[in-house]
This record gives sequence, structure tokens and C-alpha cells, in this order.
Amino acid sequence: MRHRQTVAVAEQPELTIQGWGPAGSGGTEADTGPDALPKAARRHLAKELGWSPRPTPPVAVADIRLAPSRLPEEARTRLIDLLEEENVRTDRESRLRHAGGKSYLDLLRRREGDASDAPDAVVLPGATEETAALLKECSELGVVVVPFGGGTSVVGGLAGVDPDDRPSIAVDVSRMSSVQALDVPSSLVTVGPGLRGPALEQALRRQGLTFGHLPQSWEFATLGGYAATRSAGQNSTGVGRFEELVAGLTLATPSGVLQLGHPPATAAGPDLLGLALGSEGTLGIITELTLRVRPKPATSSFEGWSFRSWAAGLAALQQLARHDLLPDVVRLSDADETRANLLMASGAGARALRGTLKARRHGDGCLLVLGWEGVPALVRARMKCAASLLRDGGAIRLGRKVGESWRKHRFQAPYLRDTLMDGGLLVETLETAATWSTLPTVYDAVRRALRESLTREGRRPLIMSHVSHGYATGASLYVTVLADRDDALPIQQWLSAKRTATDALLAAGGTLTHHHAVGADHRPWMEREVGPLGVEVLRAVKERLDPQAICNPGVLLPE
Ligand SMILES: Cc1cc2nc3c(=O)[nH]c(=O)nc-3n(C[C@H](O)[C@H](O)[C@H](O)COP(=O)(O)OP(=O)(O)OC[C@H]3O[C@@H](n4cnc5c(N)ncnc54)[C@H](O)[C@@H]3O)c2cc1C
Repeated sequence: MRHRQTVAVAEQPELTIQGWGPAGSGGTEADTGPDALPKAARRHLAKELGWSPRPTPPVAVADIRLAPSRLPEEARTRLIDLLEEENVRTDRESRLRHAGGKSYLDLLRRREGDASDAPDAVVLPGATEETAALLKECSELGVVVVPFGGGTSVVGGLAGVDPDDRPSIAVDVSRMSSVQALDVPSSLVTVGPGLRGPALEQALRRQGLTFGHLPQSWEFATLGGYAATRSAGQNSTGVGRFEELVAGLTLATPSGVLQLGHPPATAAGPDLLGLALGSEGTLGIITELTLRVRPKPATSSFEGWSFRSWAAGLAALQQLARHDLLPDVVRLSDADETRANLLMASGAGARALRGTLKARRHGDGCLLVLGWEGVPALVRARMKCAASLLRDGGAIRLGRKVGESWRKHRFQAPYLRDTLMDGGLLVETLETAATWSTLPTVYDAVRRALRESLTREGRRPLIMSHVSHGYATGASLYVTVLADRDDALPIQQWLSAKRTATDALLAAGGTLTHHHAVGADHRPWMEREVGPLGVEVLRAVKERLDPQAICNPGVLLPE
């Protein structure tokens, strides 16, 4: 039975301007300072980093500097004629809420009171035809268009940089946030791009279905944003990366509307759907998505394991991959991340775990969290086979409590980032992927580059890594860096570390990005990733669909 329905979608809260969390919740907009960290964590970080905890609160939101809108009055009037006045906004609050994304550099700028990357206006089209008309109008007006989903980009995807310095508008897709159709027999759901994961899951739950894409930004990122950036979620080892879950989409471009994808499968030429996935707003705006859904798993089980070394953990994951036994969630932390996580966790459970690991001579070991979901008999069988391979690889089982604790806290890290920034720390992540044979070299190269770049005057960075997704041929590598912030030149401090680390990971055989996308931050390396001819092909497609180059010109393609 295919039934169309307009599901009442749960309220989707706005994201706070200078950090992470719902707007108005206090949290990130408040000055928490280093004292908000547990004592043990503060001591551990001070020792590891040579860090002197100090309050470095953000400026008040009212003091953030915002230049007057440059949108010409004629352009504003024409946009109002098209979208109506309430959907064309130039007020301070709207422009600030659509300024950039949520990378460390974005947050630093906003905390320092800099909103020079804010759009000149924010517009909210309501459907595909209106969006296509908007793009045509903006092409004629010479106004740059930056599609805006949840605003959680961590690679400068919303920077709005234009080589010709034209006025720019953020196109907020939140009015297109409904569940439009559910085709239960085909396991397909059609949604607007502004819908977020929690609201989609709520709508599917009533039918016993789930979508299951769970990136750490789940609370605020949108389905359109995931498609535009080829996102990966915590369960992607099992359910697949976001692009594998897209059966079709509608892309409004300045040259017309493209309907892409033909489920269940087609042999009609090259995959044009694949061109839209990961296009990061450079070709137009995704206005509708048809996604693959599945029955809600009857059971799910998360468990913890420990390895004596990172190499042993990687070898065991490789064995699981080779035998097609990778679970739905895979997360192998290196020794630095394991130690920091155990020290940051407070309570009797964490203390007992530290004791167990020490007693079994895994005190400097590597924690592995595995998550299994599906039909109970199958889950049990997969867990049993995997356990035998893991034990052969030298792992000890830590049990469900460890796995469940990870699951419970898995969306908390972005909130902690604000607290760490409040205490004078640099906190940023980077990510890549490589084959099983090159991953160890990539890991060493990135760590070396970050260490060399961020060590100065007795201060050292803490570099914590984990594998977050496993594949038959390799795995992703996710790196979190903490360092004492250089208060005089904080932006340059990270830019220089990031440049060195990116050069190193590419030279060692890693990909430029496994799931964060290219944005403005990675575009200087795009030619190295896809080659000069690859860049020309992408440019040719853009020129055909967006001849005036108004669609997010500051990302993806090198200058
Ligand atoms: C704390 C935190 C945790 C994160 N964890 C993960 C993770 O686990 N996995 C992961 O993959 N990513 C993660 N990210 C990165 C980010 O959440 C993803 O890139 C996400 O896909 C962005 O979705 P969004 O709706 O916020 O898009 P935005 O940030 O609004 O936009 C991202 C890019 O896509 C374009 N775009 C947005 N919507 C559309 C549209 N409808 N049509 C065309 N172009 C569009 C924008 O112009 C921009 O270039 C994380 C980010 C943060 C801040």
C-alpha cells in the first residue's frame, strides 16, 4: 500500500549561534569555563597538554559585529514578490543564525564577535517550483545563493565566499520539512530536504520502520544536508552511508529541475544521481528526497572489547571485514583516546573498568565498541562468530555496560567541545579513510604532522583517534585534537596544523574527506584528490547547470 500523508513533524529547534545545543538553552551561550569539567579530566588535560585552565568566554551575542546587508533594494523587492515578505529576512537575528557552520574556526569567529561571513539575507522557499524560480531570479540579479540545511557544516560549507564579491543569500530549506509519502511495500519514504533525523524517525516509528542514519550532528543536521555532503552516520557500517540510502532526489538548478534516480535499479547510463550527492550546493538546491527505510530492528546489542594495541585492534577488524562479520556500529579507539575517555568518565563504573583493564594488563589498551542490530537469532549468530575472531586476535570482552554507556553518551561530545573552548582549548576534528594496508601509515603520518605543528614552549597536543566505519577494503579514521589555544593567533594556529595534517594524510594515501565533505576548507586539495581532468569535468557540469556561478561558488571546486 502506498499512501501519501502529511505527517505532523515534531518541532525542530534552532541551533545556538556560538556553539552547540538548542537556541536559548543557555549552555553554549553561557560562560561555563574550565571549572565545568570534572576535576580528574581537568588534571589529566593540564598534565597532557601543559594547559593552564582559564576562562575564555564568548562575547555576548548582542556584541557580535554584523555589517549592513548589501542586498540591493530592487533585488529584495523582487524576492518578496516571489516568496512574500515573511520569507525574505534581513534582520540581525536571522542573518546571525545563518552565518557559517559549526567548525572550530566558525565557533572561534562567532565567539570573538566576528560575523563577517553572514549572508546579506535569508530566504525560505516553500517547494521545488518556487526554489527553481528563485534560482532563476538570483541568476538574473547576480545574487549568490548558499543552500542552508541545519548549519552544521564543519568544513566551511556555508562560508558564502564569492570571487566577484556579489551579495549573497542563505536559502533556508526549513519550510520544506514534511514527510510527503510513505511507500511501505517498497520501503521508501519521500521527504523535504529540511526534515531532520529525529522527526523522520518519529514519523516512521508508527509504521514500525526506521531510517537509521545517525551522525553525531543528528539533532540539528537535515536530510538535504546529508545528501549534499555524502554524510556517514554511526551505524553506517551496517545500514550504509547516506548516499547508499538515497533512492532518488529532485534538484532545482538555475537551468531547470532534475529528477534523479529510478528505484529499485537502472542501467540507463551513468549515474546522474551520484552527481547531485556530494554537490554541496554548487549545482542547485535539493528540494525532495526519496529514501530507503527498513523495519525497526527487533533487537540491538552494544558491547565493549579491549585490545592491548592499536595494531591488534586493526588486524581484528580487518578479519571481521574479510569474513563479512562487521557489525552495524564499529568504533575502535587508539590508546590515547581510550585513556582520555576513561579518565573523563566519572563514577564507580568507570573506576571499576579502569581496575579491570589494569589487572588484565590492558591498562594502555584500545577500546572497541561494537553495535549489532536486527533479528535476534541473526544478531546472536553474528555476535558469536565475531567474538571467536576477536578472541583469536587477543581481545578481551568487557561486556554490555561499556557498549551501552557509549550508546547513551554518543551525542554529548559537541556539548563538551563548548566547555573545552570556554577553558582556553583548541578542539577540532579531522577525518579520512584508507585501505586496510595503508591505514596504519596514514594514522602515523597525521599524528606526526599534528604533533609537530602544535608543539611549542612545553605545550603538546593530545591527539585521539578512532576507526568509525569499517568496509571490506578499509576503514575511516577520525581524529580529535586538543591543545592549549594560542590566544594571540588562534585561527592561524589551527589553519597551519590542518594544512600540515592534510598534506600528510594525502601523501600517505588517505582520502581528503571520508564524510565531512570538501567545503571551503578542503577545496585547495580537491585537484590532488580527483586530478585536473576530474576538476574540469565537475566545472563543466556546473557551467551547464549554473552558468552565472551563483550556486555556492566558494566550495568544492578549487579557485
Ligand atoms: C558536532 C558535529 C558532529 C558531526 N558529526 C558528523 C557525522 O557523524 N557524520 C557526518 O557525516 N557529518 C558530521 N558532521 C558534519 C555535518 O553535520 C554534516 O556535513 C551534515 O551532512 C550537514 O548537514 P546540514 O543539514 O547541517 O547541512 P549544512 O551545514 O546546512 O550544509 C552543508 C553543505 O550542504 C549544502 N546544502 C545543505 N542543504 C542543501 C540542500 N537542500 N541542497 C543543496 N545543498 C545543500 C550547503 O550549502 C553546504 O555546502 C558533524 C558536524 C558537527 C558540528
